[in-house]
Amino acid sequence: MHFRARVFALTLLCLAFCGATARADLQVGFAEREITPDISKPVYIAGYGQNRVATGVHDPLYARAVVLDDGERKIALVCVDLVGLQLPEVRRIRAELQGFAYVMVSSTHNHEGPDVIGIWGPSPVTSGVDQKYLTQVVTTCAATVQDAVERLAPADAYFGTAKDHSLLRDSRQPVVYDDVTRVLRFNKPGTQEPLGILVQINNHPESLGSDNTQITADFPHATVAALKKKYHCPVAYFTGTVGGLMSNPPEIPGPDGKPMHDENFEYAEYYGRQFAKIAAQAVDDATLTELTPFAVAAKTITAPLENPGYQMARKIGVLPRAGRVWTGDFETVGDLAADDTPADKLAIETEIACLRLGELHVACIPGEIYPELVYGQYQDPVDPGADYPDAPLEPYVMQTLPGEKKMLIGLANDEIGYIIPRRQWDHVPPFAYGRDKSQYGEINSCGSDIAPILMKALENRVRELK
Ligand SMILES: [Zn+2]
Repeated sequence: MHFRARVFALTLLCLAFCGATARADLQVGFAEREITPDISKPVYIAGYGQNRVATGVHDPLYARAVVLDDGERKIALVCVDLVGLQLPEVRRIRAELQGFAYVMVSSTHNHEGPDVIGIWGPSPVTSGVDQKYLTQVVTTCAATVQDAVERLAPADAYFGTAKDHSLLRDSRQPVVYDDVTRVLRFNKPGTQEPLGILVQINNHPESLGSDNTQITADFPHATVAALKKKYHCPVAYFTGTVGGLMSNPPEIPGPDGKPMHDENFEYAEYYGRQFAKIAAQAVDDATLTELTPFAVAAKTITAPLENPGYQMARKIGVLPRAGRVWTGDFETVGDLAADDTPADKLAIETEIACLRLGELHVACIPGEIYPELVYGQYQDPVDPGADYPDAPLEPYVMQTLPGEKKMLIGLANDEIGYIIPRRQWDHVPPFAYGRDKSQYGEINSCGSDIAPILMKALENRVRELK
């Protein structure tokens, strides 16, 4: 069956039966496998500029899987220490797996791992992707999910949060953070013995910076290691809201109180351990949460691909991803784009999903969402220098997701770049905040329609869950 049809059928099935079944006991399984590239041949590191060739491996990269089973259906949540696996690869992973109501694959957005998108190769016109490596990642992700299935065991689930922005920097005005670390802790039933922890942090893993040539998972490596050591259980790190742009401060107080500067491994290790402390607060404060039954609403949607840089990269094969003909309706996927499809009719295909896991709702967002779109903290009054000051405000994620317990996974099933509130889109002069040039962001976004489309599409998925 065509993938799109299959997701639709699954959605219908879930909608028909999820609410009707009696509560079954939750089972969970964790697994991890290495996806460190072989650097005996050139490996182009993703993030920042082109032609950053790996010279060593500081710490291994992993694919990690958390499989959840409500007695009726299984959901797999996969994360990889990569810059952003895209939808075509996620579909290949799904094709290797049977019997899942949903498989979600997200990337930590690591800026110190191999290029898996194409734009960080030896030159701007040559892809940095090693297709053999990409296939290896696909196979390994599927195998990791199978490992997690074999480890399925009954569990009690706890959901917790910790709010703290002392380790965050917002590098683009207006200053709005997503400073809430969210965790799911799974215990052996009726005990305090942890079976595994899923941690979701809102930050760009880029503490090593653009001069590093050692393959590393960046600070999440240290966060995961510290949490594993503290709780003696598997830990899976997922990314959340990273747009806007959530990043590390260039300087933090070090262990001796003296300033510590970024772009080195000492900083990355220390910074990662500090984030583990925040996550540990969330783990320790987590409260018993009913995670069954599951319901899934997922859909392939399209959005106009306005970005001329992305269009050019497609044309020259650096971003070889297939395009679609824009239908004017994001819920209706058009025909495959041809070489002569006009630029203003070109659309990108992506996926948006909402999972209901008992009391918890999880938004699966296919890129780098700005915190403004998560909390509705839009610039007010709007800056008259912005390109669309009168654009309607998008419905925001925390308003759209029902209930009290919510989570957002970023770069979920795709990496389509920045998701910028339309009122903040600022590509042409005059520029907002009296600047003489645009802030960084638009250059790495599909276009100004992407935020309104995704936020509306998320609303539609939540409606399907009811
Ligand atoms: Zn980014």
